[in-house]
Amino acid sequence: EDTVARIAAGEVVERPASAVKELVENSLDADASRVEVTVEEGGTELIRVADDGRGMTEADLRAAVRQHTTSKIADLEDLESGVSTLGFRGEALHTIGSVSRLTIRSRPRDGSGAGTELVYEGGDVTSVEPAGCPVGTVVEVEDLFYNTPARRKFLKTTATEFAHVNRVVTRYALANPDVAVSLTHDGREVFATTGQGDLQAAVLAVYGREVASSMIPVEADGDDLPPGPVDSVSGLVSHPETNRSSREYLATYVNDRAVTADAIREGIMGAYGTQLGSDRYPFVALFLEVPGDAVDVNVHPRKREVRFDDDDAVRRQVDAAVESALLEHGL
Ligand code: ADP
Ligand code: MG
Repeated sequence: EDTVARIAAGEVVERPASAVKELVENSLDADASRVEVTVEEGGTELIRVADDGRGMTEADLRAAVRQHTTSKIADLEDLESGVSTLGFRGEALHTIGSVSRLTIRSRPRDGSGAGTELVYEGGDVTSVEPAGCPVGTVVEVEDLFYNTPARRKFLKTTATEFAHVNRVVTRYALANPDVAVSLTHDGREVFATTGQGDLQAAVLAVYGREVASSMIPVEADGDDLPPGPVDSVSGLVSHPETNRSSREYLATYVNDRAVTADAIREGIMGAYGTQLGSDRYPFVALFLEVPGDAVDVNVHPRKREVRFDDDDAVRRQVDAAVESALLEHGL
C-alpha cells in the first residue's frame, strides 16, 4: 500500500514546485487574503505555506490528510469554465505527506476553536497536539522525497527547482492581485504583492519597476480579434526592450485559471516576431476568455496544460491581440 501510494505520489508531486502549487491553491480555496510562501534549497529542504484563510479544526486536520478526502465539491462553475481539477480531488495533502515530513498547524476562523498541530510522516499521522497559532493554516513540507531516493535524485539544481517554484507562485500572485502573496527563498524575500492592487500593481511587485513601468496593456475582444473561439484577450505584455528574461516566463490564464498552452505561447511569440532576441523572453500576464466547450483540459490536468479544439485559431487570435497592442506603441 505504501509503495502504491509513493508511486502515485511521484506522478502528482514531481518536484517542489508541484507541492507549492497544491498548497497555494488550498490557501486560495480557503479564502485567504494573505499567502506567504517560504522555501529553502529550492523547496527540497523546506516548503512553508502560511495563510490567513478559514483554517481547520482538529477533526478537519485529521480528515485533510486522509486519502480521497475533500471538503470541496466540484462546483458547476469549475466545470463550465472547462478547466476542472476533478479526478484529483482530495489527494494533495495525503500525497505530499506520503513523500515528506508534513506538519500542519491550523486554527479555524469560525468559533472559539483553538489551534492544532498535526504531524504526518511518510504516510502516518505521528502526532496531533493543541498549538497556539493565529487563525489560518501553516503547512510545512520538510525533506521532500526523503523516502523516494529515485525521485529525489531526479531533482535538478537548487536554482532550477527554485525557478519552477518562483514561476508557480508568480502565476498565482498575478492572477490574484487582491491577495497578498509573498515568496521567500533561503531567507531572502523574492517578491511580495500588497493584495490591494490591480494587475499592474502585482506586476510591479513581482517583476520590478523597470519591467512594470513599460508594460503594454492588451485589450482585445469582438471585432478586434480574428475568427476563433477566444472571446477576449487582456492583460499586460512587456516592452521588447525589457525582454531580458533568459527563461520563458509567461503567466497565461484561461477563464481565470493559470494554464499553459502551446497555442497561447506560440501566439505571443509570433506577435513579438523578430523583436524577440534568441535568448530574450517577454514577461507576460495574459488572460483569455474562452467558452468552456472549446477547451480540452485533459492533456495534463496536473500541469494545467490545455489545448483547444482549434489551436490554430487561438494562436492567430492571441498573436493578433498582442501584435495590435505592440503596434499601438509603435513597436
Ligand atoms: P482538495 O484541495 O482537493 O480538497 P487537498 O488534499 O489539497 O484536497 O486538501 C484536503 C482538504 O484539506 C481540503 O478539502 C480542505 O478542506 C483542507 N485544507 C487543505 N489546505 C487548507 C488550508 N490552507 N486552509 C483550510 N483548509 C485546508
Ligand atoms: Mg487541494
